[in-house]
Amino acid sequence: MRTFSYHRAADIPSALEALTTPGTQLIAGGTEMVNWLKEGIESPGRLVDISRLPLTEIAADGVLRIGALARMSDVAAHPVVESDYPVLRDSLLRAASAQLRNMATVGGNLQQRTRCPYFRSDTPVACNKRSPGSGCSAFRGDTSGQAIFGWSESCVATHPSDFAVALAALDAVVVVQGPAGERRISATEFHRLPGDTPEVHTELASDELIIAVEIPRPAPHSHYLKVRERVSYEFAIVSVAAVVSLDGDTITSARIALGGVAHRPWRLTAAEAALTGVSLSDRDALTEAVALSFTDARPLADNGYKVTLAQRAAVRALEEAR
Ligand SMILES: Cc1cc2nc3c(=O)[nH]c(=O)nc-3n(C[C@H](O)[C@H](O)[C@H](O)COP(=O)(O)OP(=O)(O)OC[C@H]3O[C@@H](n4cnc5c(N)ncnc54)[C@H](O)[C@@H]3O)c2cc1C
Repeated sequence: MRTFSYHRAADIPSALEALTTPGTQLIAGGTEMVNWLKEGIESPGRLVDISRLPLTEIAADGVLRIGALARMSDVAAHPVVESDYPVLRDSLLRAASAQLRNMATVGGNLQQRTRCPYFRSDTPVACNKRSPGSGCSAFRGDTSGQAIFGWSESCVATHPSDFAVALAALDAVVVVQGPAGERRISATEFHRLPGDTPEVHTELASDELIIAVEIPRPAPHSHYLKVRERVSYEFAIVSVAAVVSLDGDTITSARIALGGVAHRPWRLTAAEAALTGVSLSDRDALTEAVALSFTDARPLADNGYKVTLAQRAAVRALEEAR
């Protein structure tokens, strides 16, 4: 049995103060953390419960600001999110189950860990993300669910958050607070590519708290497409968040992020540039533009199918965003 102490943070300063003690971890909704405790992925000496902090507000005043402790279900059901941010609503509603979404917070969603089966294995296997320097079982093992962009020989895992993919396409920022005050991190950059340090999952420092996410402008023409092995309660094989501005049927700007292909939401910047001026009714032109972002895809032994699947899904998501 692994023992730990439990404390409830009364306010943000005391939560930040708690993080200065080594071996301390935060718990919000607990839907990830409790699994990690059971699986031995984390074994903190002290758990600090932040779920009562005043960070649940959802405010829409041009910029949409969502407190880090807002529950996934509350965000998805917010009237402004429902009407003006369909991509965000659907990224939340297609994640996990209704019961989990009622507990899980959006801050915890961004901090969830990869679903790579080797990282989550309940018997010890080589995994640089879980045990730095031990090797990557996935690289020479089953790569069917792994990354096609941005991987290294140290780690080929993908990040599983659907919400993060929508945030990336919405040009959102993650607002964090630490001892030196607040800073803002682009949602596209918040999750780290593995490089030589796959055990560092995000840009959040160990003494920082996520306070909120901010989305600069509404995205009424947007869509979240999630391709998975079953229609509910399943992580994405590949997902796409597409946001377009339109003049009639013609795209005046496009932002596209993919999930399930890298350890961060993967923006299709070359495709986005090429899509300006393209008609949403012209599937060949959409397909050609999207293909520009796949010239540097690096599929592994078992996941070449993701290159085709992701391109087709991106075209479909653009069409649906209309
Ligand atoms: C069976 C299952 C299926 C799932 N399916 C999906 C899915 O399809 N798509 C998807 O996107 N997600 C899915 N999830 C993940 C789920 O969305 C996350 O478990 C949940 O959002 C985590 O939020 P939480 O509040 O419970 O976090 P917790 O478990 O409390 O914490 C998780 C981590 O986040 C940290 N943390 C929490 N809040 C903050 C904060 N404000 N600042 C800094 N660190 C913080 C904690 O310290 C911890 O490290 C699934 C989870 C489960 C268990």
